[in-house]
Amino acid sequence: KELGKNNYQIYALEQEKQTVAPDMMSLEISLRRAVQNGELHIHYQPQYNSVKGELIGVEALVRWKHPEWGNIPPSQFIPLAEESGLIAVLDQWVLKQACERAKSWMNQGFAPVRVSVNLSMLQFRQPDLVHFVSRVLWETGLPPEYLELELTESMVMDNPDMTMHILNQLKAMGIRISLDDFGIGYSSLNYLKKLPIDRIKIDQSFVKDLSDDPGDQAIVQTIITLCHTLKLHVIAEGVETEDQLDYLKRHQCEEVQGFLYSRPLPEDEVVKLMRYGAAKRY
Ligand code: C2E
Ligand code: MG
Ligand code: MG
Ligand code: MG
Repeated sequence: KELGKNNYQIYALEQEKQTVAPDMMSLEISLRRAVQNGELHIHYQPQYNSVKGELIGVEALVRWKHPEWGNIPPSQFIPLAEESGLIAVLDQWVLKQACERAKSWMNQGFAPVRVSVNLSMLQFRQPDLVHFVSRVLWETGLPPEYLELELTESMVMDNPDMTMHILNQLKAMGIRISLDDFGIGYSSLNYLKKLPIDRIKIDQSFVKDLSDDPGDQAIVQTIITLCHTLKLHVIAEGVETEDQLDYLKRHQCEEVQGFLYSRPLPEDEVVKLMRYGAAKRY
């Protein structure tokens, strides 16, 4: 209570207990304005090396604070933005912002961390995606190896040949590619072997009951082994407890991301984290 109203709002957002449910039409109209009005901002969730505890990267996650309705979680407006086509504009905005931030952290002298940006299917299929990404890198001055694009299985497997073509171009620029929410979609193992992917993100649904669900344990172990064999990095999402972390470490999952380490943080808190010690848990 003594922390004030603002803190409750953040808590409510993260728990997705936000109750206001404006109708789709007004939401879409508002979303169109949100980008110009500066209602969107980005939180960054740290990613760590599970053994050394080192900060290895941050994932950019978009946030929308509507002047009247308050915080609207991505689970509500991303699907809407996808349906209306607005997602392309939104994703472009996030990409630009995230690259600018990462570059400014470098300029401030912090050890460089990679920034991961989520791409929607629509954005991934834009004919000028490769051109746009290279322009953003050029404009912001961020070295390409510090940008990672997160795609999902369905995006990648939808049209594997076209995907191969796009990913090869992105890889040639030096950008990293990761496969988000891995395990809940459909992946052809054959393509997984061929596609130029750097990292797999184990979906948080498998991590949730990892401590006592033998099925989840088997799946997680299998994904980790697969990644090691294919020489891919592997990161577990949604790590919330010490037990989950212990399990992941024991099974050589080298990278982790989740509330146990840190929630997605506003920009100034990322800077504090970089300044006062990356290995400290929040
Ligand atoms: P995602 O890319 O899989 O991002 C991870 C989500 O898990 C984030 O939710 C994050 O806040 C949440 N999370 C992280 N650690 C934990 C944990 O320990 N426990 C639990 N329960 N949750 C955790 P968020 O920020 O609400 O985003 C939801 C989804 O919205 C993202 O899933 C992503 O698919 C999409 N999204 C977010 N930002 C963007 C964006 O800029 N562009 C696009 N296209 N999609 C985005
Ligand atoms: Mg993601
Ligand atoms: Mg996702
Ligand atoms: Mg995910």
